[in-house]
Amino acid sequence: MPAKKSTSAAPKRRSSKAPAAVPTVLGKRPAKPGKKPVSAAIIHKIFERLREANPEPKGELDYVNVYTLLVAVVLSAQATDVGVNRATRGLFAVADTPQKMVALGEEKVRDYIKTIGLYRNKAKNVIALSQQLIDQYGGEVPRTREALETLPGVGRKTANVVLNIAWGEETIAVDTHLFRLSNRLRLAPGKTPLEVELGLEKVVPKEFRRHAHHWLILHGRYICKAIRPECEKCVVADLCTSGDKRI
Ligand code: SF4
Repeated sequence: MPAKKSTSAAPKRRSSKAPAAVPTVLGKRPAKPGKKPVSAAIIHKIFERLREANPEPKGELDYVNVYTLLVAVVLSAQATDVGVNRATRGLFAVADTPQKMVALGEEKVRDYIKTIGLYRNKAKNVIALSQQLIDQYGGEVPRTREALETLPGVGRKTANVVLNIAWGEETIAVDTHLFRLSNRLRLAPGKTPLEVELGLEKVVPKEFRRHAHHWLILHGRYICKAIRPECEKCVVADLCTSGDKRI
């Protein structure tokens, strides 16, 4: 699981032939157009190794029920899970249902979450989505991606996280880490999160689909970082052909 920061030797100098960075949808390293996915056998090996290293991967957002999971994921956009957890500890203690959240009101929600980026807009969305859950879904969180995506502040990625964590569906939510990993390891190279998600759905073997999302996110967050990936700690280093590899 989470690795500590490396204290290892200084990074190797990049080759002068390395392609110049171009912006991507997620503002990180570019997906390299034209890259072919690795073989099914390699993909299987990669997931086997990730499973071996962490058999039951878990998300790192705190929640007490499906509703608070949804709110936590909405709040996590462009924020760290640690930062969100710090803010929601107090918020969920007083509002763990849509009804209580609406009763609390936007201004107080804002106070609880003001340490998180974009908190004003997020507070507005949390109240609006709570009200919509009450009005349209009897206060319950709907179980389909289509319905989830109609809620304020909820996009495809958020819906996929909720479906995966709350109900064990084999969805793959492509965040910045997963996008990077999928391209570096050539699991399903793509230029947009949707392209990567649909590509992964096709190539990830059934036995790994439930946890693929968490394995890749955690590996990207703690080992295969955007800048200075900790390749010396990587369990799939021998299977990686990325130009970003540092060993
Ligand atoms: S070897 Fe390095 S670049 Fe390749 S997947 Fe592992 S950490 Fe990432």
